[in-house]
Amino acid sequence: MAANPEKTFKFVVVGGGIAGVTCAEQLASQFPSADVALLTAAPLIKAVCNFKQVSKTLEEFDVEERPSSVLEEKYPNLRVIQSAVKALHAQQHTVDGLEIHYEKLCICSGGRPKLLTQDNPYVLGIRDTDSAQEFQKRLSKAKRIVVVGNGGIALELVYEVEGCEVIWVVKDKAIGNTFFDAGAAQFLIPSLDTDKPERAATCKRARYTIEGPAATQGLAVGSALGPDWHEGISLRGAEEVSHRVSVEYQSEVKQIYTHQDFLLSVLLIYLFNHCTVFPYYIGSWPVYAQLTNGKTFGCDFIVSATGVVPNTEPFLHGNSFALAEDSGLKVDDHMMTTEPDIYAAGDVCTAGWEPSHLWQQMRLWTQARQMGWYAGRCMAADVLSETIELDFCFELFSHITKFFNYKVVLLGKFNGQGLGLNQELLVRCTKGHEYVKVVLSGGRMLGAVLIGETDLEETFENLILNQMDLTPYGEELLNPNIDIEDYFD
Ligand code: FAD
Repeated sequence: MAANPEKTFKFVVVGGGIAGVTCAEQLASQFPSADVALLTAAPLIKAVCNFKQVSKTLEEFDVEERPSSVLEEKYPNLRVIQSAVKALHAQQHTVDGLEIHYEKLCICSGGRPKLLTQDNPYVLGIRDTDSAQEFQKRLSKAKRIVVVGNGGIALELVYEVEGCEVIWVVKDKAIGNTFFDAGAAQFLIPSLDTDKPERAATCKRARYTIEGPAATQGLAVGSALGPDWHEGISLRGAEEVSHRVSVEYQSEVKQIYTHQDFLLSVLLIYLFNHCTVFPYYIGSWPVYAQLTNGKTFGCDFIVSATGVVPNTEPFLHGNSFALAEDSGLKVDDHMMTTEPDIYAAGDVCTAGWEPSHLWQQMRLWTQARQMGWYAGRCMAADVLSETIELDFCFELFSHITKFFNYKVVLLGKFNGQGLGLNQELLVRCTKGHEYVKVVLSGGRMLGAVLIGETDLEETFENLILNQMDLTPYGEELLNPNIDIEDYFD
């Protein structure tokens, strides 16, 4: 490799999101005399702070957007280069026209929103700070929006938006299908009809903003937002209402019409059917969404919150990465792709190993951190010719979040994923207070959904991990008069 020494790095990490930053920090601290480069398209990086291990597998942390200089000050051997990678030559171990050479590379380029349709100015995706700001600007003048999707972003959005009617289009029978079952959805739905509690006036998270064209170089490549992305920005429409959400279940968007196209199609129907009264009820909106359930809604704009697609394009041409069904870079239990010396972590990758029967991949903040950290450790172990076991965090799926202002803890096969009929559910629910669901199979606990301040997470996590036979306890397991924590101590 006849390379300019300034551009030869032992480790190169692509992506300034949680996965990339965690990986680069891990490598820079473990090899203080090795050159590490972090290449990122956005001017700000994401940093994990206030990390708290809540229990064996549950973790909580805050995330701050910071200028990249913060990382370089902390790790003198780490260089952050703001540049969007456009090509990778895996055989030559080089990245891009920048001619950066690496010994080991980790791709952490995240995902981009899977939009209903590309290049329609009335269809917005929310992914990074720029798109959240655009959404806020458009919302401030809006009277009605259509939100499409049933994942975490849609759930947060419909709850947070005030002063604007929301038509929420979900393809499932219940809301929040990605995270929980119809029972939990039933528990949460009344929150959409009540006023939101007052928020603390200050935002505990530091945010930095970069003005002008340097911000994203015109590219939609910022890091994904995460929990509390809406904190500190007002999500208020043009009307004087609090919540006004109606849900269209088991529907998808069939067609999107502009104002003119829609009027034309209505006119044609009117003429073909020899109607005598023109249907004025449609109102006058900039855009119309026709749903598969036959209804059509006019609105100011449509939010497409239908998941993300792994950001792999710049890396594929000329290389032979194995891709998973969801188009992610397939990685083995050492976070290695199928190209030599190239690892991947976070939203861009898909776990290709045989997972523990209590874990599944979900493109979440916590998993981005865990994968980035573990990928860094695997790269280090490879360089040092050490062996390394799959990290314990991949043993049990665990996630803490907030939906509709309730604390939500998800453990293991919380939705009975893959269990089919071979499962038994125990549920305890107190309206407006808590919802507890336990998934059992063969008398062993395999998963749980805990909504509200249940204080059960640690005990249930232990019961899931130790796979104790709980048959003798039956329904008593959820008896609110038994202090279960004491019981299993
Ligand atoms: P990203 O954070 O997307 O970072 C990718 C990085 O790669 C960016 O810095 C980008 O600039 C860079 N990049 C991309 N392409 C290139 C290139 N060609 N060259 C150089 N750099 C490049 N998760 C939760 O756990 N809880 C939540 O409540 C939650 N809410 C969310 C709300 C929203 C609105 C969104 C969008 C996501 C949410 N998520 C949530 C998901 C979570 O944010 C992601 O799973 C996580 O941030 C992924 O981290 P990552 O590092 O893999 O990717």
